[in-house]
Amino acid sequence: MADIPNGFTGFANRGVGAFQYTRDHNRVQATEPATFDPEKLARIPETDRRWAWLEIDLNAIRHNVSLIRKGIGANTRLMAIVKADGYGHGAVRCAKTALNSGADYLGVATVQEAIDLREGLVNAPILILSQPPAESIPLLLAYKIMPSVYSPEFAIQYAESADACGLRAPYHLAVNTGMNRIGVRHDEVVAFMSQVSFHRALELKGTFTHFATADSSETLDFNIQAKRFVEAINALRAAGINPGIVHAANSAAAIRYPEVRFDMVRLGIAMYGLHPSQETRMMVDLHPAMSVHARVTDARVVPMSEGVSYGMTYRSPGSVKICTIPIGYADGLPRKLSNNTDVIFQGKRFHQVGSICMDQCMFEVDLRSYGVRQRIEPQVGDEVLLVGRQGDAVITLDDMANKLDTINYELATGFSLRLPRLYK
Ligand SMILES: *Cc1c(COP(=O)(O)O)cnc(C)c1O
Repeated sequence: MADIPNGFTGFANRGVGAFQYTRDHNRVQATEPATFDPEKLARIPETDRRWAWLEIDLNAIRHNVSLIRKGIGANTRLMAIVKADGYGHGAVRCAKTALNSGADYLGVATVQEAIDLREGLVNAPILILSQPPAESIPLLLAYKIMPSVYSPEFAIQYAESADACGLRAPYHLAVNTGMNRIGVRHDEVVAFMSQVSFHRALELKGTFTHFATADSSETLDFNIQAKRFVEAINALRAAGINPGIVHAANSAAAIRYPEVRFDMVRLGIAMYGLHPSQETRMMVDLHPAMSVHARVTDARVVPMSEGVSYGMTYRSPGSVKICTIPIGYADGLPRKLSNNTDVIFQGKRFHQVGSICMDQCMFEVDLRSYGVRQRIEPQVGDEVLLVGRQGDAVITLDDMANKLDTINYELATGFSLRLPRLYK
């Protein structure tokens, strides 16, 4: 075989073969490379390539969407928000599950997220929840993706591009009622529409706003936004403009405030079984869809006072087994949780110890037996849970979020694509 500069010889010819490293670049390979069947190789599951994965319980998503579907009534539509790869749960699978459980519409953050859904054979209406770059307009038209609109220049360019292909230019108008992130100011919607509505291709399919404090126990700012939105909708109607599908509620508002459900609610976090705030916990029974799993790759008794992991922030108290699992901060297990989270093994909690590394971390098992306590000794290959429920033991993304002073949204979306998603 000819020399390859870095010594990597790649797959052998004729479609089958092994790859191999040659130590001496100038020496021709003496023996024929062993052959492997690429199909057999492909059949080795992801969870046998690395012992760490996420499980996504699609039944939980069915339950959550159906529950909200029932709660809002048949006359209110439901938009399933599947941005950020379905909050880390896998956008295509979650979108299809939601649509089969009563969702009517899909919401995403980016053009590419919408294209990924179309390429995953999702056929429902898709709204991008902000205004994408004008350069992406041909993609919107080709893939039937609706943008949110709030600049006249974008609206006209979108309309003209659509017209040039003999297509319509459907969109939703975003209204800024106080969050001050995106949208036409609530008291300028009629003026905005008079600037753009001359264009025959433009089609106002919906009008929406977004609440900054729907999750908060304080309701004053929420009420101001809701009032401004109703006034903007009324002003459009008074000007003879049909606002289309009127929508405002995210998960928290959809659950807490029936009066702002209007024609559609936008269900994000609650669809995945996570609560948007403390306020909704008593109001709906959501089932979390995501759990985080790993298998023990190493288990060793570490003598008293020896350290574990980078920096040796933990030292063995003696009589403990230190078990290693192949998941780390590059997988989205935040390093800030080092020495401050647990894992569940055989229905019991054990402390994660030592700094969480990029690709691995460790937990501690007390080997002493006292009272009626049964000795537990994990072996290599045994499965543990980092997030999820086993018997009475539960670790939630909320537990982790509280420790990190953040929200469950950030943790769910933070699990990297290096972790396979297994659908149950
Ligand atoms: C992300 C998002 C939602 C969903 O919010 P949840 O709190 O996850 O329900 C709704 N609307 C807009 C505009 C969003 O960006």
